[in-house]
Parts: sequence; C-alpha cells; structure tokens
Amino acid sequence: MNSTPDAIPDLLDKVTNLAKRRGFIFPSAEIYGGFRSTYDYGPLGVNMLRNVKQAWWRSMVQTRSDIVGIDAAILGPPAIWAASGHLETFTDPLVDCKRCKERWREDKIDGVCPNCGSTEFTEARAFNLMFKTQAGPVEGEGATAYLRPETAQGIFTNFANVLATVRKKPPFGIAQVGKSFRNEITPQNFVFRTREFEQMEMEYFVPPADADEWYRYWIDTRLAWYVDLGIPAEQLRLHEHLPEDLSHYSRGTTDVEFAFPWGFDELEGVANRGDYDLTQHAKASGVALDYFDPTTNERYTPFVIEPAAGATRAMMAFLLAAYHEDLVEGESRTVLRLDWRLAPYQVAVLPLSKKPELEDVSREVLGILQPHFMCDYDVTQSIGRRYRRQDEVGTPYCVTVDFDSLEDRAVTVRDRDTTEQVRVPIDGLLASLRERTGQS
Ligand code: ATP
Repeated sequence: MNSTPDAIPDLLDKVTNLAKRRGFIFPSAEIYGGFRSTYDYGPLGVNMLRNVKQAWWRSMVQTRSDIVGIDAAILGPPAIWAASGHLETFTDPLVDCKRCKERWREDKIDGVCPNCGSTEFTEARAFNLMFKTQAGPVEGEGATAYLRPETAQGIFTNFANVLATVRKKPPFGIAQVGKSFRNEITPQNFVFRTREFEQMEMEYFVPPADADEWYRYWIDTRLAWYVDLGIPAEQLRLHEHLPEDLSHYSRGTTDVEFAFPWGFDELEGVANRGDYDLTQHAKASGVALDYFDPTTNERYTPFVIEPAAGATRAMMAFLLAAYHEDLVEGESRTVLRLDWRLAPYQVAVLPLSKKPELEDVSREVLGILQPHFMCDYDVTQSIGRRYRRQDEVGTPYCVTVDFDSLEDRAVTVRDRDTTEQVRVPIDGLLASLRERTGQS
C-alpha cells in the first residue's frame, strides 16, 4: 500500500491533472492564458488547504499552553526589511543563458540551461526576491512598501506587544499562518515553488543555554507531524545544513524533506536563529526586545528556534503521498488515501436514486452530519460511479441512503480504503463516524 511516489509513473502530472479536474487547484487567470505560476484553490482545494492549516494550528497553538498566535500585516515599511537583512541579502544568484536568453537561478540548474542545453551563462548577479510596491497615492521613497517574503518578521516586530499582553515567559512561542510573496526567478513544479504562497511559521523564544535542546525538539516534533497526518516515514528525511551553507542569521538549520517525484526536497526548515532577529530589530527601532526574568533578576535576549513550513507546499506533498491506483473487484480506481482531517470532504451523503421519496431522509442525514463534518451531497450518476468520484478526491466515508432506509431507518457506510460496507442506524450514525475518526 505504501508505494513511494516515484513508484507511480507520471505522478506529478497525474496529481496536477486531478487537482484541476476535480477542483483542488486551478492555474490562475486561466481565461486570460494564465499568469506566471500563480494558482487558485477551488472548492475542494480550499477545504483541504484550510484543513492543512487547521491541523498545524491545532498542533502548534490549540493543544499547547506555551504558544500563542498572531496575524500580522502583509505590507511593511522598508525599515523592517533593512533590519532583518532582507533588503541586502534576500537574493538568489540570477544568470542569463547566453544562447536562448532564458533567466535561471544559478544554484538550481547544475550549469546546463534546462531550456536549450547550453552551458554558457552570464556572470551571476544577486537578484532580490522581495516584491516592492507603493503605499498611498504619492510616489517616492517615503511611500515604498514591501510584501512580506516570510511571516516571521511580523512576529519579531510584535515580540514586545505579545510579551506585554499575554504574560508568557521563555520558553514560549508565537505562531502565524499567512501569505508570503517572493519574486522567484524560476517558479516550478506545480505549487512547490510559486511567487505567492502560504506559510506556517512559529518562533519559539528560549533561554540561550537551552537553544540546542529546543532545536532538536522542534526537528523531531515537526517531522512527527507529517507522519501523524499520513505521510509514510520512509518518504520523509531530515537534511542538516553544513555550517558553510547556513543563512546569515542561522546557527543551525535542518530541513524536513519529502520524496517529491523529482527527488527529496524541502518541506520545512527548522532553524536556530540565535538572538539575531530580536537584536537587529532592537538596534534599528530603539525599542528593547528582551526578557527580564524576575526569578533570577537577569535580563537577556532570548534565542529563537523557528520551524518554518509552507502550507501550499505541504498540501502538495499530502496529495502526492495519498495518490494511489488500485483494483477494486477487477476495476481500476484512483484513490486519495488522505487522512480524514485533511480530506476536502469527510463524508459524502449519496441517495441511491434521484426519486423524491429518498430526498427527505437524505437531507435529514445530511443535516445530522453537517455540523460535525464537511459533507458532499451527490445524487448524479450510478452509485458505483459516485463511489469512484469520492475515492478520487479522498472522501473517507460514503453514506448511502436507499429504499430500505425508509423502512429500517438505517444507511450504508462505505469505507474508502477497504471499500467495506456496513449498515448503521441513522440514530447511531454520527456516533459511529466519530468513533471511526477517533473522536470519541
Ligand atoms: P528555497 O531555498 O527552496 O528557496 P527557503 O529555504 O528559502 O526555500 P524558507 O525561507 O525556509 O525557504 O521558507 C520556509 C518554507 O516556506 C519552505 O520550507 C517552503 O515550504 C515554503 N516556501 C518557501 N518559498 C516558497 C515558494 N516560493 N513557494 C511555495 N512555498 C515556499
């Protein structure tokens, strides 16, 4: 069952096609010919992306008492990005192919132009990835603003605000989920690398002496999150950066990598950022960003451990890992074996026929389930076809209402993975589904 992604030929194409065909992810502005690697999330995709973010928020904020959330602005003044180092160093090496004139990110092409095969390039120059814009109607230096290229800085700039309002003491964290923007030189591989994407980042502030221990803790915790949500452990690995490859702020970085169809690649980075960010913003703003420990009478600048994940990239990994083709009663089917917490719909209510007698009881069943589960309701085509359609979008349970339901007040629950069907009384349906999903 746990085939690795590269065991399925053309997996990336298959998932990309399914995503479009079934309303997960559409190329943006398609009616105008598309717009440079931007994507829109359709009716099923928006559910799944919300579920990914919700699963992260649940594990990072809801079920912990040491982490609080924030939602900071996307637009920011140059001062933030000067202090953080982004204005100067948030660059990728840009080269032009001398033959076909395509532009590439030098560190991603191994010296060969992916377009024409040439090995001759211009000298690499530093290309800043931040989107610059203008805030307000008057142009000029004072109006310059940037779209954030990461959510982290909005956490650092609010460190003192949060500390003053929620009375946390290190070790404690601030979490944020939201859009980030990077003018990537070569966006690629579906939603793996796009110019507009969503991040899930958490800055965990700790006494400096404990930083290494917390760094290890967050590497393990974050790896376990992906496994818990259904990615087979053998499709994940850790990659620790060599000291010479570390970013300017980092004292240690380990990536959680997933076996994408083109090889292992980054899902998330966990970094020990030391006191770099708080020190830089304190210096630049003149506002103290430190912590006074009343028990030891010591004032210090906490170190920061940062697990930084991509929500859209994680969604893609969950889709790839879930995609399977198997045989059911001699017929091939495509099935997304998504964890029920991530599936766009957790339950599909399917009246066996369109006959009006079944409508009332079907709507009644839907009404019982909808407050608790995201439900689809589908009356079109044969029941076999509808099961396949739900398998293909990862719906864990189908509830079929048939003519016997009118007599026995029971329905058939079908399991996506085993295709097993059991009869369940309508009165016990909610409890049964809650039990199956480990909620009772
Ligand atoms: P890379 O070196 O691949 O450009 P990075 O190491 O700079 O990425 P981080 O700054 O660590 O990436 O960002 C944290 C996470 O945000 C990444 O692990 C990834 O999941 C996500 N992410 C970063 N850039 C993009 C992008 N352009 N599109 C989609 N997700 C992204």
